[in-house]
Amino acid sequence: MQIDIRGLRKVYPGGVVALEGLDLTIPPGVFGLLGPNGSGKTTLMRILATLLEPSAGDAYIDGRDVRRNKAPIREMLGYMPQEFGFYPTLTAYETLDYFALLCRMNDPKQRRSRIRESLAQVNLEQLAERRVGTFSGGMKRRLGIAQALLNDPRVLIVDEPTSGLDPEERIRLRNLLAELAGGRIVILSTHIVSDVEITSERFAILHEGRLLFSGKLADLLARLEGRTWIIDIEEEELTRVREQFFVTGVFRSATGMQVRVIADAMTHPRGYSTSPTLDDGYVATMRQEAELSAVD
Ligand code: ADP
Repeated sequence: MQIDIRGLRKVYPGGVVALEGLDLTIPPGVFGLLGPNGSGKTTLMRILATLLEPSAGDAYIDGRDVRRNKAPIREMLGYMPQEFGFYPTLTAYETLDYFALLCRMNDPKQRRSRIRESLAQVNLEQLAERRVGTFSGGMKRRLGIAQALLNDPRVLIVDEPTSGLDPEERIRLRNLLAELAGGRIVILSTHIVSDVEITSERFAILHEGRLLFSGKLADLLARLEGRTWIIDIEEEELTRVREQFFVTGVFRSATGMQVRVIADAMTHPRGYSTSPTLDDGYVATMRQEAELSAVD
């Protein structure tokens, strides 16, 4: 079971190029799509979910073509869109019942058991009879995932599941996605680096419809091994350090200020070596892309 994406391109009417010839393989497990707003994450997810036609290229889910095998793909796939509308006066159970009927789960007994199972998978059984209008952001998101799980999909696609959640809800949701990955492909999109760092064994970085990286965290960090540093500085030094080094982060400490930088060698007297983080890798990847685009 895997997803194969070859030369995938999407140009929207009006000429916006949302995907620029993407090549990507997605194996089972949690796979993160990381990129800023507008980088093409939703477009890619909607194409995989057979809701949007690509302009060129191919995508196969378990060997099935998303253009020609829409019905079998929809049977094995669950999708939670970014904007997920609920009727506030319906309970969680009634909401899922409504969606199950839309998916033509006509047998009442089967429908009831799938709804119960989906609610249990997202830890909402206790709230089945509560009106959705009273739910927190995290509960609504979990209900959205329960909706996507109704057909017990082998591929679960969730668009920005953690956006707008408070830290506790974010952690809960990350854990949930990791749990759901057993044997499935779970694709989540996010613009938050730590979402990917914590949940995803593999991830891709998208920027303006282009794939900048795909692989494991360790592969991205290996590129920076021996090249990440911390420098203790006085506040007045910041501008000069920025001119000299590629800064990936600035932090205040009890004693003053620290900057994280990427450099082949350290020439500052108060600089010392540190381990690379995904933040460093993400910032460095984005910066390289910006510099290459400027050269174009
Ligand atoms: P992301 O999910 O990473 O925020 P999207 O896939 O939503 O990115 O968008 C990628 C690009 O395509 C953006 O420039 C966006 O403005 C554009 N876009 C998205 N949907 C449409 C549409 N229906 N019509 C025209 N342009 C669109």
